[in-house]
Amino acid sequence: MFIDCIYKALRTPKETQQTLEILTEADMLSGDSSVIQLYEQKLSYYFNTKHAIAVSSGTAALHASLLNVINPGDEVLVPAICVPMTISAILQAGGVPVFYDCSVHSFKPDLKDLDTKITNSSRVLVTVSMWGYRAIDNDTVAFCRQRNIVIIEDAAQSAGTDSLLGYEGTIGDIGCFSTHEFKLISTGEGGFILTNSDEYAEKIRSFSHIGFSEHHGGFGYADGLNYKLSAFQAAVGIVQLTSLDAKIQGREKRKVKWKSLLQSSAGISFLNSDVMTRHNCYSLVCLLKDSANQSGIELANKLYTVGINTDTYRYKNTIVSNYPYYKDFYMSPRYTGDNSLDFPNATEMVRRMLVLPCHERVSVEAIYRASQNIINFIEEG
Ligand SMILES: *Cc1c(COP(=O)(O)O)cnc(C)c1O
Repeated sequence: MFIDCIYKALRTPKETQQTLEILTEADMLSGDSSVIQLYEQKLSYYFNTKHAIAVSSGTAALHASLLNVINPGDEVLVPAICVPMTISAILQAGGVPVFYDCSVHSFKPDLKDLDTKITNSSRVLVTVSMWGYRAIDNDTVAFCRQRNIVIIEDAAQSAGTDSLLGYEGTIGDIGCFSTHEFKLISTGEGGFILTNSDEYAEKIRSFSHIGFSEHHGGFGYADGLNYKLSAFQAAVGIVQLTSLDAKIQGREKRKVKWKSLLQSSAGISFLNSDVMTRHNCYSLVCLLKDSANQSGIELANKLYTVGINTDTYRYKNTIVSNYPYYKDFYMSPRYTGDNSLDFPNATEMVRRMLVLPCHERVSVEAIYRASQNIINFIEEG
């Protein structure tokens, strides 16, 4: 593969040195280390939230958050375009996933569709900002406030995406982030939660520390799991956070390069990102026009054969309710079972979508070569 969405994140020798220095000075290497406190302070300072809680993964962040907001059987509204980890966290927290459509060419909710999905059991709206594109706006927030629905942002892919409302992941009630290898803050495995709510922070922190409660002065006042991050990962995270802005700049260059080379093709357009003051450039989402005469998946399959592995190939651009394990939650009377009727906007978008990586291992030469492949495959139709 000369372009691959699966890659080893860049950690420079200097960054590795800085990480080792933090670890050498560390009082402990466990999740109770002062390194964790430092990491959390730096996260809440960067993202400008009252609380940051480091946890062992993005899925753990979602699980710990959902479990402390919903009661078993509560309905959790979740977009038709997301990842299985979002749904797993809902199910493990005892929630019932209710799939909603996105608005046209966007990852934000279609509020008209959302309105038809609301019941007395609706408790949480999960927004999922895929590939760093925004998934929440003022209207979404107002919609939820009116209906007493808690907003949990799955911002796993959108660390650093910014808008007039603030950073993605800090706009709803709770923001969940992943620091898995492929995410912009990359610690191998890991995650964190951001919130301005003292109540949620206390509950989620306690839950992810096996029920330990600072407030009550010990264990045994609440239940929980051990979702703590270790000092090893936090030390990597501290250094990664320092280079987040530079990383985004590097990705921006690649995104601009892709766009400048591909815009000459009549078959390609790009997902609109000008509503953001900054897109973290996790990936570039292209939308194929009708004149391309093929779907995003068909094109991605061809690209794979010439050495280009995209998220479109890897995840097959599927609507999440299509996964066999979730079929019990995709049934009448709420749904017809036909994706194009149930989620017209999401269906249209996944049909057109081709997602191109912009990470630090993608070279400019590779972008030149791959763009030519893409343009050729589109011309051949
Ligand atoms: C990566 C990711 C997750 C899960 O994060 P992990 O750290 O891998 O558990 C959840 N949601 C989205 C949108 C993701 O991209």
